[in-house]
Amino acid sequence: MTKGILINYEYCTGCHSCEVACKKERGLKKGEFGIKLTEVGPYQYSDSTELENKWEWTWSPVITKACDMCAKRTEKGKMPMCVQHCQAWCMHYGEVEELVKKMDGKTRWALYTQGE
Ligand code: SF4
Ligand code: SF4
Repeated sequence: MTKGILINYEYCTGCHSCEVACKKERGLKKGEFGIKLTEVGPYQYSDSTELENKWEWTWSPVITKACDMCAKRTEKGKMPMCVQHCQAWCMHYGEVEELVKKMDGKTRWALYTQGE
């Protein structure tokens, strides 16, 4: 069964806790990341789009090749470090099929799965 991390980035506050927790867990050097926060905005859309002057300011973490889904922790039944430290409770770990069921079609989600 494939495991994954699901992020409801609608509620990501940009706090960087996941980044810091992961760097410590994986022993990554300065400039290296297992999960890295990205920021889009802030900017205002023009009134020529259907977004009609709405503001864009989106935070979303991106999981990198250095992520091993916290194998040492999860094989003992613990949560990945990033999920455990997310202060907004917007990160979830588990079987991909179960994670997909959480997506509500109303808020914005990103699903990451583990490669080889
Ligand atoms: S699961 Fe572990 S290795 Fe992967 S991003 Fe989260 S803290 Fe880093
Ligand atoms: S810990 Fe959670 S709220 Fe904070 S940046 Fe990461 S995903 Fe966003």
